[in-house]
Amino acid sequence: MDINNQDDVLVHRMQAMLERVAMLKEHDLYFYNQPVSELRGGARVVVNGRDMGMYASYSYLGLVGHSRINKAAQDAVAKYGTGTHGVRTLAGSLKIHDELEETISEFKKAEAAITYSSGYVTNLTVISTLLGRGDYVFSDKINHASIVDGCMMSGAKFRRFRHNDMAQLERMLAEAPSDVGKLVVADSVFSMDGDIIDFPKVVELCKKYNAWLMIDEAHSVGVLGKTGRGIEEHFDMYGSIDIKMGTLSKTIPSVGGYVAGKKELITYLRHASRAYIFSAALPPAQAAAANEAFKVILDEPWRIDKLNANTQQFLGGLKARGFDTMLSETAIVPVLCVEDNTAFAMTQYAQHHDVFVLPVVSPAVAVGLARLRATVLAAHEPDEIEYAMDIIGEAGKALGVI
Ligand SMILES: *Cc1c(COP(=O)(O)O)cnc(C)c1O
Repeated sequence: MDINNQDDVLVHRMQAMLERVAMLKEHDLYFYNQPVSELRGGARVVVNGRDMGMYASYSYLGLVGHSRINKAAQDAVAKYGTGTHGVRTLAGSLKIHDELEETISEFKKAEAAITYSSGYVTNLTVISTLLGRGDYVFSDKINHASIVDGCMMSGAKFRRFRHNDMAQLERMLAEAPSDVGKLVVADSVFSMDGDIIDFPKVVELCKKYNAWLMIDEAHSVGVLGKTGRGIEEHFDMYGSIDIKMGTLSKTIPSVGGYVAGKKELITYLRHASRAYIFSAALPPAQAAAANEAFKVILDEPWRIDKLNANTQQFLGGLKARGFDTMLSETAIVPVLCVEDNTAFAMTQYAQHHDVFVLPVVSPAVAVGLARLRATVLAAHEPDEIEYAMDIIGEAGKALGVI
C-alpha cells in the first residue's frame, strides 16, 4: 500500500481518523492508550511517573491484585502452565473451566454456564448462534457495541428502540410476526450513561410477546444487588432472564465472558456457538482468577456497601456542584460536557491535576452528548473522591460547563 496515495480509498478512510488523533496530540488533548506503570490498589495508579486517582477503571470492587485471587492464578499456572493448547471441545478443557462454570451458574442462580474468551466475543457468538435470517432482535439504542455487532452478524431483522423506551419496544414487538424467533437484548447498567434498564417492564413485555430476554451484566455484577449478584437480585426478580450474559474483565479481575441460563441452552451453545468451537479455551490462570473472584465477592460483602457509599458521595457531589450526570444511578457517572472539545479540555485539566478520567465523544455517543465518563470504585477513600470532584468542578467552571 502507498500511504501517501490520497486516491486510495482505504488510505483516504484512515486519514480522517489519523488527522483527528494527530490534532489532539498536537494540542496535548490526547489521553487515550496511556500505559499504567503501577496499580496502587486500583484506586490510585502511576501514569507517566505521576501518582493519579483512577476514575476510569471498571474494577468496581477493587479486586485487582487481591491476594486470594492472585494466589488462585499462581496455583493454576503451577498446576497447568499458561496455555490450553486448543479449543474446549477437543483438548482444551481443564477441570478449572468446569469449576468456573459451576461457580458462575451458582452465583447467577442459573442451572448452567458457558465461558468464552471475551465478553465481546460472547455477545457476537451467542446472538448470532441463536438468531438467523427471518428472526427479529430488539435492541436498546445505546446497547454496547458488542451487542450491536452480534445483532448485525446474526442476519436477523434488527429493531433498535429508543433508550429505555418501553412503549416503543412494545409497538415493535406487537408488529413482529408471531412465528419467528424473537430476542430482546439490553445492557443491565448502560455502559456510557450508568442508568439501569427498566427491568420489570422489559420482563413483562418479553412474556407478553413471547420473546426471549438477554441481559448483558458487564456493569451490574458486583454492583447491583445486596450481594452483588446483579440485576435480578436488585429487583428481587430471580428467574426473569433467559440469557444472563456477563464479562470476566470488569469487576471480575480476569478476562473472558460467559452466559448463564437453562442447561439445555448451555448445552446447545456448547455445541453450536462458533466462538466456543473454533477459539481456544481461557488460559488456566485467568479461569482460576475468575473462579476465585466470584467467591471473594460473596465472602467480602463490605466491598459492595463501600461502593454504594462512594457512589452516593460521587454522584451527589457532582450534582450538587451543578453538573448534569444524566440519569446515572450507579458507579458509572457521566459528566455531560455537550461538545467534544469541551470534554477533551475537561480531561486535560483533570489529568494535569492527577485525576485520571477520560472523555467519551462521538461516535461512541451521539453528537452533543460528549462527556467525561467517570467511574467510582470501592477502593476510593472519601477524601480522594472529594478531591477529584473539586478538580472536576474547577475544570467545569473554567470551561463554562457549570
Ligand atoms: C466491556 C463490555 C463488554 C465486553 O466485554 P470484554 O470482556 O471486555 O470483551 C460487553 N458488554 C458491555 C456492556 C461491556 O461494557
